[in-house]
Amino acid sequence: MSTAGRSPADDHRARALTVLGATGSIGVNTLAVAAHLGIPVHAVSGNSRVALLAAQARAAGAKVAVVADPERLGELRATLSGSGVRAEAGVAALAEIAADPAVGAVVTAIVGAAGLPATLAAVRAGKRVCVANKEPLVMAGELIMASARASGAVILPVDSEHSAIFQCLAGHAADEVRALILTASGGPLREVRDLAAVTREQALAHPTWRMGPKISIDSATLMNKSLEIIEARWLFGIAAERIEVLIHPQSVVHSLVSFVDGSLMAQLGVPDMRVPIQYALTWPRHVAGPVPAPDLAALGRLTFEAPDTARFPSLVMGFAAARTGGLAPTVMNAANEMAVERFLAGRGRFTDIFAAVEQALAHTPRCLAPGLDDIIAADAEVRARMAS
Ligand code: NAD
Ligand code: MG
Repeated sequence: MSTAGRSPADDHRARALTVLGATGSIGVNTLAVAAHLGIPVHAVSGNSRVALLAAQARAAGAKVAVVADPERLGELRATLSGSGVRAEAGVAALAEIAADPAVGAVVTAIVGAAGLPATLAAVRAGKRVCVANKEPLVMAGELIMASARASGAVILPVDSEHSAIFQCLAGHAADEVRALILTASGGPLREVRDLAAVTREQALAHPTWRMGPKISIDSATLMNKSLEIIEARWLFGIAAERIEVLIHPQSVVHSLVSFVDGSLMAQLGVPDMRVPIQYALTWPRHVAGPVPAPDLAALGRLTFEAPDTARFPSLVMGFAAARTGGLAPTVMNAANEMAVERFLAGRGRFTDIFAAVEQALAHTPRCLAPGLDDIIAADAEVRARMAS
């Protein structure tokens, strides 16, 4: 193998980075990877933790810091005074740092549908878009992928399962693939019988991953896997009927591809998001990083089981929404975001999340090929209905 003949554009250090959602779990890991690899950071954004955002911008030598909430702009400006970092605020500023001509790669690490406008801006501007923020793909995957084809944007998965599948698919044609197999840890409630009695603390205590609160609850309900089915459907252009879910509590086998000749290919790694973040930034090369490979002899056993769809009906809803398409994924996602917010605020039981999503899905507006406006309207409608 030789690296001779690579153009400078192949070098990850030549692509200045915007990190959307820098103050969150993926954002913090992304900045650590960028520092390790010597990737210049052009811009960072956050929602409310202004002191952390300012400290990140200074440490990374960023040119711009954006706080999503416009009311916090004064505070951000004051905190950054004398640093040479420009302070900006609001949704339009998020889109600007995603599309800035100085930027080569964007990591999308905002949580939820709130990341849709900035994701679209990065895609339309033809960037390398490293997608952690899966919700926009769930809502508008078809439009985002079409927009990437038109602009030349390269969309690379950060989600560990999708990074694994992406690596297993490399060099293979669609007709060689029987199915994509997404692994799931099963979350903290895998063995809990009475889900109605689950507390916030129980649901947040993920056994293998340290993540933000929303995705931690999504992992406990398995709704995260439902979102990932739809994410995979668009990233890899494969029908929902050919996507499967397999419970694997150790989170070492990150996902698999099942080929038509009966062989399975998998990608393994320790559960540390710095690995898939780094690969999205350095693709098509694997470069030395800070994370060791798993010690399989020390692990001893890796186990697998079928998911329990009776206790976790979210998976049934996810497959159904993926098959139905149209606005069903948008409705599922919006209802889930609202229900998770409610549960995290101490209002309602854990199992109310399943009920809320099921009820919202039953009212999905019929629309076979929704445009962006239809998607945004359906998302807003679900939120308004659930807030009242
Ligand atoms: P987090 O809650 O730790 O961080 C979210 C980030 O988004 C923060 O920087 C926050 O300030 C920002 N943000 C929140 N609301 C916003 C808004 N309305 N407008 C603009 N910015 C806003 O979340 P996380 O765990 O880092 O997850 C981020 C995304 O990555 C999610 O979509 C999640 O599903 C996905 N993801 C996370 C992991 C993980 O290990 N944490 C793994 C795979 C995928
Ligand atoms: Mg994942």
